[in-house]
Amino acid sequence: MRVDLHNHTYLCKHASGTIESYVLQAIEKGIDIFGFSCHNPMDYDEKYRMGFEEFDGYTKEVLRLKQKYQDKIEILLALEMDFLPHRMELLDKRLLDTPLDYLIGSVHFLDDWGFDNPEFIGEYKKRNMRECWMEYLECIKKMAESKLFQIVGHFDLLKVFNHTPPKEVFFKIQEVLQVLAQNQVALEINASGLRKPIGEQYPSREILQEAYNLGVYITFGSDAHQQEHVGFGYETCRQLAQSVGYHQAVFFRNKKRFVYDF
Ligand SMILES: [Zn+2]
Ligand SMILES: [Zn+2]
Repeated sequence: MRVDLHNHTYLCKHASGTIESYVLQAIEKGIDIFGFSCHNPMDYDEKYRMGFEEFDGYTKEVLRLKQKYQDKIEILLALEMDFLPHRMELLDKRLLDTPLDYLIGSVHFLDDWGFDNPEFIGEYKKRNMRECWMEYLECIKKMAESKLFQIVGHFDLLKVFNHTPPKEVFFKIQEVLQVLAQNQVALEINASGLRKPIGEQYPSREILQEAYNLGVYITFGSDAHQQEHVGFGYETCRQLAQSVGYHQAVFFRNKKRFVYDF
């Protein structure tokens, strides 16, 4: 079975394509279960997300398509939510309480630095990367401990512009993966890194191997921001997962976990 749980639409403002065009592409690619996970509306970084007034339309359109194509594909309704430990009030209770299939928790900011945005790439020169990695991993850990999210998005996103984690932080990576295992939060294999300067999926083979050893669940996501990205890099990610020992992955309906063979 083939599942893809991480996909954006034009509602995120930095993505394109109608919601229906993604569904048609997913059917064409032979995907069995396809999840929409647009960025959550939030009073922060509004340039890259839907507004609260659009959220209703998003859920209605995804649910309409779920019905329309139910014989061909299973559509899931989700959100990718930003986690900022210093701004917990941004985690909107209305969204947390909305019946969704799952929430992907993601860290895209250190303090208020959007580190994966090419617009702010100059900031890297001013930073100590060992400290940044420690801070980033601590955010991921807090996010997993919050139990608000079913999935951790792009676990090692901070490497996006080729700042891979230094050896001295590997103990911290292990610690965070242990927290994922304990809290049964899934680790996403996200293909979008293959399209970025780093040129590899999130997470790295080394991290994925450690996750497997610790018994962490995995999911697959193409993190599509346009129709052509749907299903992109899946074969690479699937083979990588198998090569470290995984033969099963998970998905979620109504925030309940289901295990499947891939
Ligand atoms: Zn993301
Ligand atoms: Zn995303």
